[in-house]
Amino acid sequence: MLVDSHCHINFPELSEQLPQLLDNMKEHDVSYALAVSVSRETFDEVENLANTYPNIFCSVGIHPAEQDAAEFSVAELLERASHPRVVAIGETGLDYHWCEGDLSWQYQRFITHIEAAKQSALPLIIHTRKAGQDTLKFLKEHNADCGVIHCFSEDIEFARAALDLGFYISFSGIVTFKNAKSVQEACRYVPDDRLLVETDAPYLSPVPFRGQLNQPAYVKYTAQHVATLRGQTFEKIAQITTDNFFRLFNKAQR
Ligand SMILES: [Zn+2]
Repeated sequence: MLVDSHCHINFPELSEQLPQLLDNMKEHDVSYALAVSVSRETFDEVENLANTYPNIFCSVGIHPAEQDAAEFSVAELLERASHPRVVAIGETGLDYHWCEGDLSWQYQRFITHIEAAKQSALPLIIHTRKAGQDTLKFLKEHNADCGVIHCFSEDIEFARAALDLGFYISFSGIVTFKNAKSVQEACRYVPDDRLLVETDAPYLSPVPFRGQLNQPAYVKYTAQHVATLRGQTFEKIAQITTDNFFRLFNKAQR
């Protein structure tokens, strides 16, 4: 059994073919997926999916690169976090790739999400792009100690610091890319009990589907690559990443 710990199956290119995607998951032994919110509107979509399908969970949050998104207050996040199918806060974090200039709005949004995670006792889903040091700084300063660094694209030093804070590390299709040497090095370093796998579908399809539309079933190919990199069996990777998912997102029931 595998779990896709991060996907966006509500995005239009995927939601149009949802029955097929769910069949493909079954065929690839991907038993669960976490559909991640990136805005107010997409929260309603992912919650609807999670209410409809027993093997889909969801999160609540606003993506750091959604510059013009209507903000959630801490109270609004907490209200939604109390819904039964909502198992995490995010995705949140910092993004210096898509956003520049005065980023005080992005910092404030991140702090709001960290506060909601602490008050709800739900894990954070962290997105960080070209902002590694500041992301760590905010997590540390605001005493965030539970969550996942999603779609890991940093290096081993960052992995070590995030692990020290108590975070899990999730690897996407990036880890299968030939030139992703520092991500692969980090993947070998992460201890068994902190490792997760994800697709981030519709983006970042793993080899051999690189460049094509991604889907939750393809987490299998990432898991196979992770197994090879770490010198472990595929079955072992499937087991530890599934156990880790349900330990971290402990509101999610098997
Ligand atoms: Zn995402």
